[in-house]
Amino acid sequence: MKRIGLLLLAVLLLPFGCKAEPAHSAAGFACDTVVTITAYAPQKTVDETLKICADYEALFSKTVAGSDVWNLNHANGDPVEVNPETADLLRLAIEIGEGSGGAFDVTIAPLSAMWDFSANDPVIPDPAALNEAAKRVDYRSIIIDGNTVTLENGAEIDLGGIAKGYIADRVADYLREQGVTSACINMGGNVVMIGKKPDGSPWLIGVRDPNGTPEQSEEVLKLGDAAVVTSGTYERFFEIGGVRYHHILDPKTGMPVSNGLASVTIVGTSSVLCDALSTACFVLGEEGSRSLLTRYGVRAIFLYSDGTRTAVPAE
Ligand code: ADP
Ligand code: MG
Repeated sequence: MKRIGLLLLAVLLLPFGCKAEPAHSAAGFACDTVVTITAYAPQKTVDETLKICADYEALFSKTVAGSDVWNLNHANGDPVEVNPETADLLRLAIEIGEGSGGAFDVTIAPLSAMWDFSANDPVIPDPAALNEAAKRVDYRSIIIDGNTVTLENGAEIDLGGIAKGYIADRVADYLREQGVTSACINMGGNVVMIGKKPDGSPWLIGVRDPNGTPEQSEEVLKLGDAAVVTSGTYERFFEIGGVRYHHILDPKTGMPVSNGLASVTIVGTSSVLCDALSTACFVLGEEGSRSLLTRYGVRAIFLYSDGTRTAVPAE
């Protein structure tokens, strides 16, 4: 009787969309960050996305020996044959480097390597050493010819400001190819949504309150088929003498950007673009970001450490 009841319930629910694949999730760790994927797809399909993340990490990591980035950074200026996707990502990084007047610079590696935000006993790098390292930071030193990349003038690559966005886009591509029409991918703050929830309601994406706990949202965005990326001072940082030293660096000085901003959130359609722009706009500040935001047709939310908020374009 109970069985018949359940069967009846199932039949009754079918016309209301319950035939759709139930939600499955996968969580993992890639590119030094937590990855969570929820998709209305079989568990096997969702699990496959974690493998995709690991494969890309093996290309883009600067610490994994033998990755494209590692090979480039250890080539002593010799040309290196890279995966076509690495070459494409570097081309986009250079484009954003140009568009931001060098505020976004993937040759930040000599500077970012001098900061250890997870050290037990963190230290502020010596300013003279930072100045010296900053001389090697210039995206124009990346020479690309097809899939052959040469780093001139002692340049080194750090894709930390753009790779997670790229990978999130590729995971979304894979899910779409598998016929998935409803999913939400979160790679350490790089969120990509496919469609809306199966019931037609939007995904709810919290923008963290920079002055609150990690669970506190300053606002909740209701979105579908979109990409949202936040760069904030709370991701990786340490504090000494009441000053917060965080991981978004001014390529000219090697010091954490100190312009009153606590986070920049970019809302668009391409996660890789939103990722690069979130870092670029953090460095440029609100006024300096306007033309870049217009050019790429994305929205931005600027949150300041004093609690103020601005949206560009204005809402
Ligand atoms: P998150 O990694 O927390 O998502 P971002 O996207 O803003 O945050 O990327 C910050 C990372 O980008 C840093 O950890 C570093 O690897 C790199 N980076 C820091 N400053 C710059 C910069 N000015 N231009 C390009 N990349 C940067
Ligand atoms: Mg970024």
